[in-house]
Amino acid sequence: SIMPATLSAISNGAKHGILVKGGVHLENLGHLEAIAFDKTGTLTKGKPEVTEVLVNKGIDKEELILKAASIENLSNHPLAQAIVNYAKQTLRKDLLQPESLEDIPGWGVKASINGEQWKIGKAAFVGNDQVDEFAEGKALELAGLGNTLVFIEIDGMLSAMIAMKDVVREETKHAIEDLKKQNIKTIMLTGDSEKTARAIAAESHVDEFYAECLPEEKVEQLKQLKEKYKTVAMVGDGINDAPALAIANVGIAMGGGTDVALETADIVLMKNDLPKIAEAVRLSQRMNKII
Ligand code: ADP
Ligand code: MG
Repeated sequence: SIMPATLSAISNGAKHGILVKGGVHLENLGHLEAIAFDKTGTLTKGKPEVTEVLVNKGIDKEELILKAASIENLSNHPLAQAIVNYAKQTLRKDLLQPESLEDIPGWGVKASINGEQWKIGKAAFVGNDQVDEFAEGKALELAGLGNTLVFIEIDGMLSAMIAMKDVVREETKHAIEDLKKQNIKTIMLTGDSEKTARAIAAESHVDEFYAECLPEEKVEQLKQLKEKYKTVAMVGDGINDAPALAIANVGIAMGGGTDVALETADIVLMKNDLPKIAEAVRLSQRMNKII
């Protein structure tokens, strides 16, 4: 049977934009020792914008952007959307139809377009050694400023780099600080590069971060956190986050997130409102005392 204190805490939460799918989750929240956050769409707004396009010698920039957007139009990754938006704003040309496409979560996309073989994705996806040419100057600087870098290979040749910047939510720093005040360890998990992750982690004020996590490695990190801390929460928004949300003691989804994340989570933040987590922890601690 549900205790009156639990019921009143759940309804109190709902009034404040926190949907709790059962008393046990609220109770667990009161015992939280660590909380892991996905980066893109959770600590950041998840709406990256293109900041820089660097092309190799002999590559036509407009044609490159048009084809990249034509490929990314078929992917639903936030970075893909940024490239499509950029093409629409700068080119005013109809997108092309790729002959084939393969979306590889955590890495990028492979496609065939106008008879060319394209790869768009992270450095390790297009071959690290070639990437160094780009990484010499501007690329390192851009990553250090928190830009996510995506590389393009055409028929085996590194051809371009696109930098995108996603802004940290205004309320992130405050939300993290509030959790730290309650002695809860804050950790960021991301598939992004070490350098970009470091910049976003610093801006967010999280205690620790793990970069270059493949989707399955996020689950692995969570398992390790559960060995180290008694009660661990995970906050995420994407399809990729669902397995980690499921394995956490408390899975928390951003209300604006994908359906899978919302279904898997134990708690939903109705307005993507990160500061509500620390509030819910306090609510839960008060409730646990009464029980
Ligand atoms: P995150 O955990 O930050 O949401 P992902 O695991 O989804 O990141 O992706 C990791 C990296 O793989 C991205 O930073 C990007 O470099 C690359 N990537 C993944 N999907 C795409 C795509 N559709 N287009 C370009 N790059 C991609
Ligand atoms: Mg995300």
